[in-house]
Amino acid sequence: MSEPAPIVTAVGETPEASGGLWQTETARVLSTRLGRMVGDKTATALATLGLYSVGDLLRHVPLHWIMGAESSPLDELREGEYAAVVADVEHSGRVGQHPKQRFVATISDGAHQVELTFFAGGKYPKAAESRLAYWEKLLPPGARGIFAGKFSYFRGQAQLTNPDFVTIDASGAVVGGAARNRAMGRVGQSEGMIGLYPQTKKAKTWDIAETVALVLDQVDLADPWPDWVRERAEVLDLMSAFRAVHRPSRSDEVDAGLDRLRFDEAFRAQLTMARRRADADHWTAIPRTVGEDGLLAAFDARLPFSLTEGQRAIGDEVLADLAQERPMQRLLQGEVGSGKTVVAVRAMLAVAESGGQSALLAPTEVLATQHAHSITALLGELAHGGGLLGEQATRVVLLTGSMSAAERRAALAEIASGEAGIVVGTHALLSTDISFDDLALVVVDEQHRFGVEQRAVLSDRARARPHVLVMTATPIPRTVAMTIFGDLTVSTLRQVPAGRSEVSTVVVDEQANPAWVDRAWQRIVEEVGQGRQAFVVCPKVRPTKDDPARSVTELYEALTEGQGAPGPLASLRVAMLHGQLPSAEKDEVMGRFAAGELDVIVATTVVEVGVDVPNASVMVISDADRFGISQLHQLRGRIGRGRHPGVCLLLTSVEADSPARERLDAVARSRDGFELAEVDLAQRREGDVLGANQAGARSSLRLIRVLDHVEVIEQARDIAIEAVRRDPELSDPGFVDAITETELAAQEDWLERN
Ligand code: ADP
Ligand code: MG
Repeated sequence: MSEPAPIVTAVGETPEASGGLWQTETARVLSTRLGRMVGDKTATALATLGLYSVGDLLRHVPLHWIMGAESSPLDELREGEYAAVVADVEHSGRVGQHPKQRFVATISDGAHQVELTFFAGGKYPKAAESRLAYWEKLLPPGARGIFAGKFSYFRGQAQLTNPDFVTIDASGAVVGGAARNRAMGRVGQSEGMIGLYPQTKKAKTWDIAETVALVLDQVDLADPWPDWVRERAEVLDLMSAFRAVHRPSRSDEVDAGLDRLRFDEAFRAQLTMARRRADADHWTAIPRTVGEDGLLAAFDARLPFSLTEGQRAIGDEVLADLAQERPMQRLLQGEVGSGKTVVAVRAMLAVAESGGQSALLAPTEVLATQHAHSITALLGELAHGGGLLGEQATRVVLLTGSMSAAERRAALAEIASGEAGIVVGTHALLSTDISFDDLALVVVDEQHRFGVEQRAVLSDRARARPHVLVMTATPIPRTVAMTIFGDLTVSTLRQVPAGRSEVSTVVVDEQANPAWVDRAWQRIVEEVGQGRQAFVVCPKVRPTKDDPARSVTELYEALTEGQGAPGPLASLRVAMLHGQLPSAEKDEVMGRFAAGELDVIVATTVVEVGVDVPNASVMVISDADRFGISQLHQLRGRIGRGRHPGVCLLLTSVEADSPARERLDAVARSRDGFELAEVDLAQRREGDVLGANQAGARSSLRLIRVLDHVEVIEQARDIAIEAVRRDPELSDPGFVDAITETELAAQEDWLERN
């Protein structure tokens, strides 16, 4: 993206050209595709950063800001991050012999060091020699330079391999380096401060800076908020904020600019929540009430255990909600294994009792199938609706995308007639050819895989608004709940049913203790010998080039057939389970495992959510560092569900003091999902607060860190409430655009994931 592209200005575009979507000129300009303003080549490069519109670019704020003379903080660099740093060469020199010779240098910002390695290449000795000589000349001890590339860590030491660089003098002027890297000089030369942007190979920080400058010169944006909002929030106007973050002269300007942009993010989210709450006020639902001796009472009477206090209390709240004329909008969050399913089943039975239907949405077919089976089992004779019990029974119907045409027709008929009181499925339940007789309740299991959009789509399928119960095992800190789920009432199940077993978690460092890996497989053999079962989890299905992580197929073979000698699990009944298997096969494997006909499943994260096999007591997670904290916690939740203490072994080859290892240690230390969720959030940076999985998170929450910015979120919520008070329809053009933008982002997110 080096050559400046022809400039096409967005100004003069007719409203029709942009679909007439926006109320304000500001929103229109911000939504302009970058290609129209900076040229296709640059736009293509910026797309590698997920930047598509003018607004995306202007909101892409630098990670660090440096003065020409000031060094960048080397200790803030993360594994895998592209960055440019200004630093001095401490020592440098040649290492190794032809054909593996290289030039290494240690650079420092005074406090922290980075190891640079330049590979000379081995084919042509002369060329290699001239490269080495070039580096030697440019990067002797004492030289100062700007170095950019992808950072990695080795034994806790930051590394840059074959970085781009230029050398600079004390004034920041470029004095050496490749011509194509001259633009890096901006980093050293600017009058004010220079931002170092998150970058990719195709879109480097100095090019981003140049493009931002180009765009900033072309646009002049009126502030989208009414004056009173800006006054209450005490923030800069929008244009000043963009200038402040992209071209500051002092660091307090940066802070003021960021404050404004963060406020905007939080405020857009809160306005959207306010809008949804206001809309929900107009919705009516059919109240569903239960009798003393109805289906629910019959179910409670035959439950093999007594409900925990939490299950009972939340159950009462849910029943009270269902009896209202307003649709329930409730989020049930609860530790893995806390027994959320029973709460949902009771709600669905309450609805069935009054003749209504429920849809239970699960994130995977495996989970949907399992839910259907376990709910049917839990209901026992109460699931034989249409039979002798008549009114006192209902039917559970499973609907998945992979059913045969005949099965599907039968299921659809039962759904349409209303015979099926409980319909379980994946998002296939959302397809338009499904009509319910009287859809009264939608239960969404494991919300983190579902978006707001999906809830909306399903809701549109009912005659009246259905009640909605969303369940998640990923504990959600209060601020996140406020930001993402502001339209839901939150209930929390903190208790895990009595009689749960301990799960001990151990990190196995494969480099330091290779023998422990054999011990891990041995442990599985021992547990199976005791009648238990085991999971082995891998991060991917098949081997891939350039990635040493073991796949399901590789590990399955190594564990069973082995090479030469039989594998360590050769004597056991082992099967593979992963998303690429045909559904029937997945169901079969899961079914055999649940029935105790298999000892070990080697799987991907398809077992992550909800799989409930109480007899499983061991889980070995291969390349555990590839998983996030919440994911590991979820995975581990699959064991220790019965009477047997569990053991979870996290195999890893990462360095002992790397951030990845810290995550694993945190998981080993704590079994408290709430505590882990906070560690998880604290480790993340802006932009991936909830991962791409959360509704709207990818595109609408870039700067807000939910743990750090509690005050901004609360302030934004207060101002949003005030906005509704002043303007009940939220008809101010700026508000309308903010809500449109958030909803679009949520939709895009959703589409991307499905
Ligand atoms: P999660 O909240 O993770 O979805 P589940 O609903 O799958 O948890 O429940 C886990 C297991 O605990 C299931 O086997 C379920 O039957 C059992 N269970 C639920 N509630 C209780 C209870 N009150 N007492 C004993 N076991 C329970
Ligand atoms: Mg569950």
